[in-house]
Amino acid sequence: MEYCNFVETKIHKMSIANNIEKIQNTLPSATTLVAVSKTKPNSDIIEAFNAGQIIFGENKVQDLVAKYEVLPKEIEWHFIGHLQSNKIKYLAPFVSLIHGVDSYKLLKAINKEALKNNRTINCLLQVHIAEEDTKFGFSVNEITELLESGNINELSNIKICGLMGMATNTKDELQVRKEFCSLRDTFNNFKQTYFSNNEHFKEISMGMSGDYQLAIECGSTMIRVGSSIFGAR
Ligand SMILES: *Cc1c(COP(=O)(O)O)cnc(C)c1O
Repeated sequence: MEYCNFVETKIHKMSIANNIEKIQNTLPSATTLVAVSKTKPNSDIIEAFNAGQIIFGENKVQDLVAKYEVLPKEIEWHFIGHLQSNKIKYLAPFVSLIHGVDSYKLLKAINKEALKNNRTINCLLQVHIAEEDTKFGFSVNEITELLESGNINELSNIKICGLMGMATNTKDELQVRKEFCSLRDTFNNFKQTYFSNNEHFKEISMGMSGDYQLAIECGSTMIRVGSSIFGAR
C-alpha cells in the first residue's frame, strides 16, 4: 500500500493537469492563476488548457506571438516580461494583460498601438519592491507623480488594472513578506486616492512558484506560476 501511494505521488508530480488542480485547490476563489509557460512547448500548454487553464503568461514577445498563432484562440495571453516599445505592435492585436509596465513612455506607446487596433489594452504598473536593483519597476513616488499629473487620463485606450511586483529572490520569508505587504499597502493607498470609483483597478499581481502562498497571505489577486506547473526550466 505504501509503495503504491509512493508511485502514484510520483506520477502525479509529472502531470501538468494535476499540478494545476493542486494549485487551484489551494487558491482563494478571488485569486487568478496565470500559468507561466515560457520556454515550454505547445504540447505542455495544450495539456494545461485541456485541464481548464485559460490564462497563460510569456515573457518574450516573439515566443508569445508564435504560441498565440497556433494555439486555441480561447487562451488569454498575459505578457509578463520587460516590454520594449518597438515590440508592442506584435502584441497589441490580442494581448489580454501586460503585467510589467514601468514607464509613462511605455504606457503612451501601448496606448498608441491599442488605438491602431481599435482595442483597449489592460496594463498593470510594475512597482519596484525588491531589495536588488536588478528588477525593473516604478518607485512608489514615480507612480504617485504620474497619477497626480493626470497624464494617464489622456490615454484613452489603456486600462490600468492594478499593480505588479516581484519580491527579492531570497529564502528569507520575512523579507519577502515585507515586500509583498508593501505592495498591497501601496495598492490600497492608490485605490483609495486615485481609483476609488474605478472598478478596473483591482489586481495585485505577485507571487511565483517559490513564494505564491506568502503572496496570497499578503493579498495577491493574481499569481504567476511556472515551474510548479510545468516543471523546472
Ligand atoms: C518566469 C516568471 C514567473 C514564474 O516563475 P516560476 O518560478 O517558474 O513560477 C513569474 N513572473 C515572472 C515575471 C517571470 O518572468
